[in-house]
Amino acid sequence: MTHGHRGRFAPSPTGDLHLGSAATALVAWLAARSAGAPFVLRVEDIDGPRVVSGCEVEQLDELRWLGLDWDEGPDRGGPCGPYRQSERLASYEAALERLRARGLTYLCDCSRAEIARVASAPHAGDEGLPYPGTCRASGHSPREFRRAPAVRLAVPPGEVVVRDRWQGEVRQDVARDVGDFVLRRGDGVFAYQFAVVVDDLAMGIEEVVRGADLLLSSPRQALLARLLGAEPPAIAHAPLVVGVDGERLAKRARGVPLRDRRTAGECGPEVVGRLARMLGLVPADERGPAEPRDLVARSDLAALVGVRQVRLQGALDPGAC
Ligand code: GLU
Repeated sequence: MTHGHRGRFAPSPTGDLHLGSAATALVAWLAARSAGAPFVLRVEDIDGPRVVSGCEVEQLDELRWLGLDWDEGPDRGGPCGPYRQSERLASYEAALERLRARGLTYLCDCSRAEIARVASAPHAGDEGLPYPGTCRASGHSPREFRRAPAVRLAVPPGEVVVRDRWQGEVRQDVARDVGDFVLRRGDGVFAYQFAVVVDDLAMGIEEVVRGADLLLSSPRQALLARLLGAEPPAIAHAPLVVGVDGERLAKRARGVPLRDRRTAGECGPEVVGRLARMLGLVPADERGPAEPRDLVARSDLAALVGVRQVRLQGALDPGAC
């Protein structure tokens, strides 16, 4: 099946956008625009307690500063709105109810410590221990809960296979490696894994472009989309930007947040030019600023094939334009 390229960027307003977020936003924007496809901006403010006040406005402003634009978003509306997750709770409730009606969910009041005690860890990866399924047999039956219960997905057995545009094939036995994952936490907050799937389907997203740190979320999300009766969007995971020593970009490291670049007097296209060279989208020996709209015709997204991460290298060097 072929997909279109209607795309999105979905920042969480929980911290500063930094050079890594900018690289992801640029690649997602280029993937859509180079295919002549629409681009959607969605604010993933589902986890209320973590949302930083004023962050959304600043993030959107920084994306504009980079020279990016979008056809639909919280600031301009559109046919698939609202574009803030905090305003879409009814659609998550409805999707959760559809899964519940098919017997695919159950209530779970296990604590982290209990899960750690019961779970054996042969496949524990970056997602932690697979949930051992303690509460599965009890389903939704009313009982005395020891704490507000989470809702978990009863994950069907078997391997899930997804094909990424740049990272190739990803196979994961979700039931074995992750277990029955949480769709709604005990405190009532819907899980990222769930909300993102419901939104991408509702917003008609055809290709999900995001950072490679989320690659292993894709099998879970494809599984969920299918359980909701839909074909999942195509996926394309852009290289994760790491520091010169290979470390993850600490959000507050000096020079890394876009805010620092602005206050240092740089212009967005200067940052875009350096990111495009760093990602190999344009020749490394180019110099100077690059407007995203000028990169549409001449950036080579195939350069991202097989690249899981890139180092910041000279991207931190100051240089006003
Ligand atoms: N909101 C997520 C983040 O900021 C991105 C989710 C996604 O692109 O699927 O990391």
